[in-house]
Amino acid sequence: MADLLSLEEARSRILEYVEPLGTEPVPVAEAAGRILAEPARALVDLPPFRSSAMDGYALRVADTPGKLPVVFHIAAGRPSPSAVQPGEAMEISTGGVVAQGADSVVPVEKVVKLDNRVEILEAAEPGANIREAGGDVRAGDPVAAPGTRLGPAQVGALAAAGLEQVRCARAPRSAVLATGTELRPPGAPLAPGEIYDSNGVMLAAQLSSAGAEAERLPVAGDDESEHRAALEHGLGFDVLVTSGGVSVGPHDLVRKIARELGVEEVFWGVAVQPGKPLSFGVRDKTLVFGLPGNPVSTLVAFELFVRPALQALQGASDPGPHFEVGALAAEVRRKDRDQLLRAHSKVSTTGVELQTVSGQESHMIVRAASADSLVLVPRGKGVVRRGESVRFLRLV
Ligand code: AMP
Ligand code: MG
Repeated sequence: MADLLSLEEARSRILEYVEPLGTEPVPVAEAAGRILAEPARALVDLPPFRSSAMDGYALRVADTPGKLPVVFHIAAGRPSPSAVQPGEAMEISTGGVVAQGADSVVPVEKVVKLDNRVEILEAAEPGANIREAGGDVRAGDPVAAPGTRLGPAQVGALAAAGLEQVRCARAPRSAVLATGTELRPPGAPLAPGEIYDSNGVMLAAQLSSAGAEAERLPVAGDDESEHRAALEHGLGFDVLVTSGGVSVGPHDLVRKIARELGVEEVFWGVAVQPGKPLSFGVRDKTLVFGLPGNPVSTLVAFELFVRPALQALQGASDPGPHFEVGALAAEVRRKDRDQLLRAHSKVSTTGVELQTVSGQESHMIVRAASADSLVLVPRGKGVVRRGESVRFLRLV
């Protein structure tokens, strides 16, 4: 492994091979996690009409202070009857249509109720507690831009603007293939030498969280024909993610069989820990990620390389990885590879403090699962001191 690529080189080599997938209509109710492909424009003004921000009284500023007859109650969801005439007030609920003529809403807490009249003690303010039509967005204006990953707030905004369906990037169809004769599914008894397959479920979860459709293929034992059949099947997807079998042992068959099946290997080996023996290749339009088998290596390599590729396939404006800045809580020694250390983040008024978890070996998935962040310790000599700025990735 003489020519290890740097983290950044590996990322950009991968992105060179990514061509955005097509688009498809998606119901807004199912669009969270998807990436918008076309501008989504409001179908209505928001609010659609002048509405009250408070429970109170709609009236004319010129009539205040004073005692006014209450001529109507405007409930939310009902059209307002007629204009508020000079010298009158209408009771109004939050969200009710502010009647023509009214130029202020006085909150109920600020009035004195007298039989069928109301006393306004102070001069009302023009426009107070009135939400103007289109104050949030106007019909025809954009609600979300293409390339935006839709989260809860965005789907809420799209629904508020009357959209039932939006055009999103097609969800990448992806296959997960865990390799290793030692792997058993959770629930089965373990014979000597066996372990449970954790990477299969983990990768499927990571893929789904990145907006992909994930199909788990049956585990392939360390046998050429099993690898051949499983890899050939996986090469029918947009993305094939394998785990294990990409190192230099006699049973590491993924790269060899993938090559035999026509996968062009773009690179193998990145100067990163964990995750060094990562391989990346393509066949036709299928992207093939051979991730190392140690569970923490799989976890980290996915975040660094596979998630950005999936975002780019979906046309994301910035595919990531999206590093943030924090400070180390304790000194860390640098190595000849970039390290991604598992850490807890603590937010304070001075910034984010990152405390690395104990147990940083690449098989320790349970220790890694107690972390919320991956701290990037750049390769080099010496140490990164306590309090020094570092970049980190949040684990989703
Ligand atoms: P390999 O890269 O195949 O040599 O695997 C490296 C280490 O990761 C070995 O200890 C494997 O047993 C372990 N490993 C490989 N695949 C998985 C998996 N799907 N789940 C959990 N551990 C795995
Ligand atoms: Mg193996």
